[in-house]
Amino acid sequence: MADEVLFLDLKAAYAELQPELDAAYQRVMDSGWYILGEEVEAFEAEFAAACGAKYAVGVGNGLEALHLILRAAGIGAGDGVIVPANTYIATWLAVSQAGATPVPVEPDPRTCNLDPNRVEAAITPRTRAVLAVHLYGQPAEMEALVEICARRGLLLFDDAAQAHGAFYRGKPVGNLCHATGWSFYPGKNLGAYGDAGAVSSDDPALAEKIRRLRNYGSAVKYYNEVKGVNSRLDPLQAAFLRVKLPRLPEWNARRARIAQYYLQELTAAPGLILPYVPAHLEPAWHLFVIQHPQRDALHAHLRALGIQTLIHYPVPPHLQPAYAEMGLRPGAYPLSEQIHAQALSLPIGPHLSLADVKRVIAAVRSFVRALPAG
Ligand SMILES: *Cc1c(COP(=O)(O)O)cnc(C)c1O
Repeated sequence: MADEVLFLDLKAAYAELQPELDAAYQRVMDSGWYILGEEVEAFEAEFAAACGAKYAVGVGNGLEALHLILRAAGIGAGDGVIVPANTYIATWLAVSQAGATPVPVEPDPRTCNLDPNRVEAAITPRTRAVLAVHLYGQPAEMEALVEICARRGLLLFDDAAQAHGAFYRGKPVGNLCHATGWSFYPGKNLGAYGDAGAVSSDDPALAEKIRRLRNYGSAVKYYNEVKGVNSRLDPLQAAFLRVKLPRLPEWNARRARIAQYYLQELTAAPGLILPYVPAHLEPAWHLFVIQHPQRDALHAHLRALGIQTLIHYPVPPHLQPAYAEMGLRPGAYPLSEQIHAQALSLPIGPHLSLADVKRVIAAVRSFVRALPAG
């Protein structure tokens, strides 16, 4: 059988940039400076510029980025934060870690992102903020969320862990609301070689608070104003990210070409739901998520043909044992549950060859053709 089609080829990504990444490694090792410092500051400035934001603060990972945003904004025990029912659990965990309560809201089933029309019904006197997510790399409907939050006196933040280089009405994700949390987990569109994350924002006070919180709550060494954490962006990771950031537009363009090809070639497959992209959005295409009622059989069929696909995600946050305290049963968030039951992510990495894209398309088509009609 032909080689496996990998879901994401991280070795090929390293090979493309190896001389520059190895030089970045050598530069940091030779510097003798291994916590925060110039390399982290340089990345923060370059990443802020890419976000169209005044500030970026490097932190340990994406979960910490979101958690520290909430803490810096003074959100904690007794507060409610509206989150998408359909998201990766990290969004919820950030709220819980801050001591607040995640308040789930169903998605728009077409975009799979938080449905602004359902947000107001979930607001209570305890609600302090909305934490939107640009799931699969497609920007959430931010204009409507900005309007609701302004009118109802709520803060608005976004989880951009899947949306590096995405645009909303021509504006880069990273400065569409009060503060944005980023992950540079290796598999993200802008991925490091270990854990890494950042916050971008135009708010100088919030950025300064996060700078302290990430470093034991200290601005001056051994003087601690607040009970902070240790969640600093590693200088080695910052140096690697500085190599990869300028390549992001080109690597995202490769993803977008694959997405266009899938959208064009898979339209006629009965039973298959393809990603829906409103015209004012330019997704980062972190994931290409299709839906099918026989998702598990499709998954097995593709695996048998040597094609790796992944399920993002098999269990929604409200049905995870981690959130058993909410007492929610299947059926509590049916739209999100349906997406979790039907979603399958096709390979879409920047190093996927056209021949492999064609293999994926042929394999998906062979599955839907083989299904009994009706
Ligand atoms: C990856 C991811 C995170 C968490 O990022 P880490 O760096 O792994 O902590 C948060 N939210 C979403 C939507 C993600 O995909």
